[in-house]
Amino acid sequence: MTHSYSSALATLGEFGLISRISAAVFTHGSVITGIGDDAAVTTISKGMQLLTSTDMLLEDVHFRRSWHDPYRLGRKSLAVSISDIAAMGSLPRWALLSLAIPSDLSLDFIDDFMRGFLAMASENQVVLIGGDTCSSRSALVVSVTVMGEQYTDRIVRRSGAVPGDDIWVTGTLGDAALGLKLLESGETVSNELLTGLLDPEPRVPVALLLAEAGLATAMIDVSDGILADYGHIAEQSGVGGSIHIDNLPLSASFKQYTAGFSVIPYQLVLSGGEDYELCFTAHSTNREKIVDCAKKCGIDVTRIGIVTSCSGVAAVHRDGSSYIVQTDGFNHFK
Ligand SMILES: [Mg+2]
Repeated sequence: MTHSYSSALATLGEFGLISRISAAVFTHGSVITGIGDDAAVTTISKGMQLLTSTDMLLEDVHFRRSWHDPYRLGRKSLAVSISDIAAMGSLPRWALLSLAIPSDLSLDFIDDFMRGFLAMASENQVVLIGGDTCSSRSALVVSVTVMGEQYTDRIVRRSGAVPGDDIWVTGTLGDAALGLKLLESGETVSNELLTGLLDPEPRVPVALLLAEAGLATAMIDVSDGILADYGHIAEQSGVGGSIHIDNLPLSASFKQYTAGFSVIPYQLVLSGGEDYELCFTAHSTNREKIVDCAKKCGIDVTRIGIVTSCSGVAAVHRDGSSYIVQTDGFNHFK
């Protein structure tokens, strides 16, 4: 830290900041040594394997401070990495957080960011076990690593989809993309759309139930849009897929906002990204069990398509005709 920081942050210093953070950390029995030593020491549950995923969030690339309040930014920074562990059908357990802090950032901002981060952590039983802080000459940089664990035979990869499997998705798609479009164009954004964009909820409980029951043959979280993300499953499984446009689950807010449009902007739903829902494939005999799993977790699941043996992923209408992106009818998004 240097004297160029706001007085409260400069007075606190790096070590003061770290003690302030570690005092607020929730912990569990797997953490033998948390923040405060040269490295953290943790115990992995017997018979389980360790999963690790990391994400970097850059100011003005992945978020804007003018849109994203620090509390929800803290939540989302952790949520996106938890979502990756969930997408492996695994239990998120430990997190590392590194921050590059620009000189114009206030201690209040960091406090609110950490409140959000640690709230997301305790909601998901994740312990912050370490990290790093340094000064940034320009933007705020947030780097998060989440580690999780799962029994070997329960881990769900992208590579297990088989032709004939159903393609499923949790929750609804497109809210985050629509929310972002509206923010960019300076329009009013409903709370539900904003929540989709600024405060996504990682789908841990349903992911764990699906993994435990061995129902998902392949799984991924939807961070780049369902077409691209299902495309990763298709590629790694050596299969193709048909996504049925008319089955894509849309939120009430999405439907309400686009009700006056001559065509629904499905490209936001297909390619918008940042939904952090789960896309998974499953054998068609397991439909009822899958709906039951979702019900237990209080969320919806929707069958949006079918895994095919030909390569490539197609977006199609109910009658089998290809979906063609319509660019007229929603001038907002030109
Ligand atoms: Mg992912």
